[in-house]
Amino acid sequence: MGQPEQEQRPAFINRPGCKTDKTQVRAWSRPQSQARPYQLRHISKRAASMAIMLICSAPLMMINSQPLAAQTAAKKLFGKKKAPANLQARAIGSYAKGCLAGGRALSIDGPAWQAMRLSRNRNWGHPQLIAFLERLALDAKAHDGWNGLLVGDLAQPRGGPMLTGHASHQIGLDADIWLRPMPERRFSRQEREKVSAISMLKKGTRSIDQNKFTMAHFRLIKRAASTPGVARIFVHPGIKKALCDRAGANRAWLRQVRPWYGHHYHFHVRMGCPADSVGCKNQAPPPTGDGCGKELAWWLSDEPWKPKKPKKPKPGTKPKPRRQITLADLPQACSAVLDAAPYGIAGQAISPQSGYQQIPVLLQLPKARPLQN
Ligand SMILES: [Zn+2]
Repeated sequence: MGQPEQEQRPAFINRPGCKTDKTQVRAWSRPQSQARPYQLRHISKRAASMAIMLICSAPLMMINSQPLAAQTAAKKLFGKKKAPANLQARAIGSYAKGCLAGGRALSIDGPAWQAMRLSRNRNWGHPQLIAFLERLALDAKAHDGWNGLLVGDLAQPRGGPMLTGHASHQIGLDADIWLRPMPERRFSRQEREKVSAISMLKKGTRSIDQNKFTMAHFRLIKRAASTPGVARIFVHPGIKKALCDRAGANRAWLRQVRPWYGHHYHFHVRMGCPADSVGCKNQAPPPTGDGCGKELAWWLSDEPWKPKKPKKPKPGTKPKPRRQITLADLPQACSAVLDAAPYGIAGQAISPQSGYQQIPVLLQLPKARPLQN
């Protein structure tokens, strides 16, 4: 069942008697002979307007504040939240128009990962995404010759649109993983702000640099794409080409790996909707096949990279500014996510800087669930 997209107009705004104009005052203060059944006795005009104000203004003020919040750019409302919503974990809406209830933090340090760019406070996700990342990190370290994950942006504590970057990453099911191998040592907090990701491309080309893109990269992406519950992985077309060339006979996992612009410094994992996330909208599944044929050839041609000609505005008209996503554009349940109490001890905001071991102590975590099939 989907959520209604638009907020419904509360019924009491249209109820009889809630007009503060002169007609209404006159109606309420009619002589008894003309009174309607619900008007018990003749009251003065002044008393009538007082009564109307008392009965009608409080609920009106309450609902008048809603449209204001609903019209504010949703990125401002969600960007302000420092801690997740204390609700059952749920991805709500679609990847580029939704929010996240009951988000969990990826610890900034784990046995096989380090979270980067901590100042952004975007290391939050649905518990299934966090469980996936932790397992991928450990398995890749154990089996793929990949020392550990440098993890970039997941989502904000309550998901939603962000003040900068990313159209998607809104429902806690998207994660950026750097293609730069993780060093043996721990990066300092300052280094995590400044250290750059590394492009896998030969400078000025759409092909990978063989010295940078190794078989360990190949195994890591293959492992992620083969994991049940992963819907898509976005990589640069040059990287998709390298994966296609190296895949051999077992190619089913390549279907999940989709070419896209950018994504040569990191790859982007997108998980499918968890089975119990009511109102979470999956993307249509990728086309069948390994995607190594015509589609990839198109991506590697000049066609997708030609700069778009800017549309000429009609004479006398100003170009319209791009419309911002507002709370009214998001599923209705996202208002409750914004309003919910924070998740932590006595309403305390949880620092995403908490260590790996500390997180289970701070948070009431839902029991580990298997990833969906
Ligand atoms: Zn991304």
